Amino acid sequence: MSALRNVVIVGSGCAGNTAAVYTARANLKPLVIKGHEPGGQLSMTTLVENFPGFPEGIHGPDLVENIRKQAENFGTEYKEGAVLEADLSKRPFRLNIEGEWIETRTLIIASGASARWLGLPNEQKLIGHGVSSCATCDGFFYRGKKIMVIGGGDSAMEEANFLTRFGSEVAVVHRRDQFRASKIMLARAQSNPKVKFLTNTVVDDIYDVGQKLVTGVRLRNTVTGAVWEQEVDGFFVAIGHIPNTKVFRGQIETDADGYILTKGGAKTNVPGVFHAGDVQDRVYKQAITAAGMGCMAAMEAERFLEAEGH
Ligand code: NAP
Repeated sequence: MSALRNVVIVGSGCAGNTAAVYTARANLKPLVIKGHEPGGQLSMTTLVENFPGFPEGIHGPDLVENIRKQAENFGTEYKEGAVLEADLSKRPFRLNIEGEWIETRTLIIASGASARWLGLPNEQKLIGHGVSSCATCDGFFYRGKKIMVIGGGDSAMEEANFLTRFGSEVAVVHRRDQFRASKIMLARAQSNPKVKFLTNTVVDDIYDVGQKLVTGVRLRNTVTGAVWEQEVDGFFVAIGHIPNTKVFRGQIETDADGYILTKGGAKTNVPGVFHAGDVQDRVYKQAITAAGMGCMAAMEAERFLEAEGH
């Protein structure tokens, strides 16, 4: 068993790293558990144009890496791996990190949210073989190829625009004809000559598991009922995210979708456990709001420890 920690932060995205900057600067020697997607959503995005302080924008991976370095400069420790089990029934809290148990007086959950999948039988089998949830990671492989993006939100628009750098064409498939995407992001995609829209359309199947390669899809128009097949090489799913709270289920209050229910500020229903970022936020989900919540969670952890005499 490792020494008792003051603060353990679960997650190394914008929220977790910002909480680390603040708690490290308060001399609490935080430990950050990097999680199964180190750097979080920012590490999978391209240019972030709306994080204050960067008039020319900053690349997501650079932004999160900068915050990590800043946290390390103040003495934050980082640990690879994910939380496999948690016992929050009494203090100190106990966490199983890839088989090693750690004890901590306070916990900041900043484990974010992971990509949502369509749930088609062939989808999981073809991940890494043409099916992807990360254009930044995998777009490069589809130079001159036919690309399809699923979704009608900002992520889908961002991915579609980005993927036109590589693909010969990018088809955006959306199940409705109204878009959740912001006007500016939608307009950018609509004015991009390489992007074509298929609205009121759903994907019924992805081919070809036999070849272990995406070769095409079967599509269906939900209004006319028309069904057709279309050749595709790269299939990018951009339909939102699922909060990473599975290991805390039954111990922390969440809503029906698993997002942590806030008890004001950064508090959860368990004293000493705080939340930050997308794991609780289903409304704003921005890098700047995640950073702000990371700061709030850190300050609350600090006050909690002080009140307990640590
Ligand atoms: P989102 O806004 O929740 O949009 C998800 C999209 O996927 C919706 O169009 C939804 O369709 C569709 N969808 C969900 N489940 C589906 C299913 N099973 N089958 C087919 N389609 C499905 O998610 P997001 O685009 O990832 O954006 C999340 C947040 O991040 C938003 O607040 C967004 O503004 C922000 N964001 C910002 C930027 C930026 O500013 N650079 C970039 C990316 C994301 P319906 O509309 O029919 O529900």
